[in-house]
Amino acid sequence: MQQFPEFNPQARILLGPGPSNVSPRVLKAMASPMLGHLDPDFIALMEEIKKLLRTVFQTGNEITFPVSGTGSAGMESALANLIEEGDEAVVGVNGVFGARAADCAERMGAKVHRVEAPWGRIVDPQEIEAALKACKRPRLVAVVHAETSTGVLQPVEEISQLAHQYGALMVLDAVTSLGCIPVHIDRWQIDACYSCTQKGISAPPGLAPLTLSERAMAAIGERKTKCRSWYLDVAMIAQYWGTERIYHHTAPISMNYALYEALRIVVEEGLEARWARHLQNAAALQAGLSAMGLKFVAQEGHRLPQLSAIEAPAGIDEAAIRAALLRSYNMEIGAGLGPFKGKVWRIGLMGESSRRANVVLVLNALEQLLTDAGVEIARGRALAAADAVYAKSA
Ligand SMILES: *Cc1c(COP(=O)(O)O)cnc(C)c1O
Repeated sequence: MQQFPEFNPQARILLGPGPSNVSPRVLKAMASPMLGHLDPDFIALMEEIKKLLRTVFQTGNEITFPVSGTGSAGMESALANLIEEGDEAVVGVNGVFGARAADCAERMGAKVHRVEAPWGRIVDPQEIEAALKACKRPRLVAVVHAETSTGVLQPVEEISQLAHQYGALMVLDAVTSLGCIPVHIDRWQIDACYSCTQKGISAPPGLAPLTLSERAMAAIGERKTKCRSWYLDVAMIAQYWGTERIYHHTAPISMNYALYEALRIVVEEGLEARWARHLQNAAALQAGLSAMGLKFVAQEGHRLPQLSAIEAPAGIDEAAIRAALLRSYNMEIGAGLGPFKGKVWRIGLMGESSRRANVVLVLNALEQLLTDAGVEIARGRALAAADAVYAKSA
């Protein structure tokens, strides 16, 4: 018989663009006994999960549940259900994830108006309006709240107002924002919003929280054609997550245990406190990175607290630095995507990973490795800058 070794992964410090570190409480929850997907105890858990998700999304939306699959399944679900062949969609594209939404909308049959901005800049609401004006009957506007490829925080309220003014639905990618920074579905009048479990919520990857407004559900109810995706058809899945409990596909049971425990941790901490923690640790990290002379990709004033994209210094093998971080410090940071490949690092401080100890460790490790690689850095300045941020808020 062939022997297969046991797999015993290291407990890494996860400071990439996700997954983030997962609390032992969540891992323990996943080891709980299996239940059937129609077991009354599991159904009770589903109800609690819906309530918790409404809290973190800041919404009263009835249709709020975790889609089976990662954040991308949430994106595909929102777009597959809202788009019919020939619909016009206005999509903001200033990085990888906006480009994916545009691609996905096209695959669902939409005529897509891409509103582009250079990577590192926000999408301009005026250009969204110009695209809306150019549409005969825009079906939806989609933008990415936290563009993880560049570290840009997109303001969404004005775009949402414009969408509604022109009779379109507003779709928001909150995959990297939920659980890290404020996401106000009702206040901002977002019609469809999708997220994930492995970034700000700090559960393993595998579910995609989705919320749909009454307006979105009415639009789905008025479809002339069936949703192009069978697996992600919200009208059918709502009969399982709603009161009818009609089997559609088997819910990922243990992932729901994990999500429930992770959401319990989020509300125990409190949303406001959690957002403040992300802001503070980000301020310290970004002060430290600046003190090291590193440059940010995202424009000033629109930088994400939970993800800092920085340019690797000229002449430095960025992949070698990441490999050394993993080898010597047991720490993961992210590489650049697309045109940023080989040029950019992405440091995430999301959910459980957003901690002072991690800020201190990554700054010190980067300083050491860059100095070793020949970059001239005044040792200790980064940590002093980070400490000054904490001292100010103590
Ligand atoms: C990570 C991410 C996604 C994709 O989520 P997966 O869980 O990897 O499928 C989509 N949008 C944004 C903004 C992301 O950061």
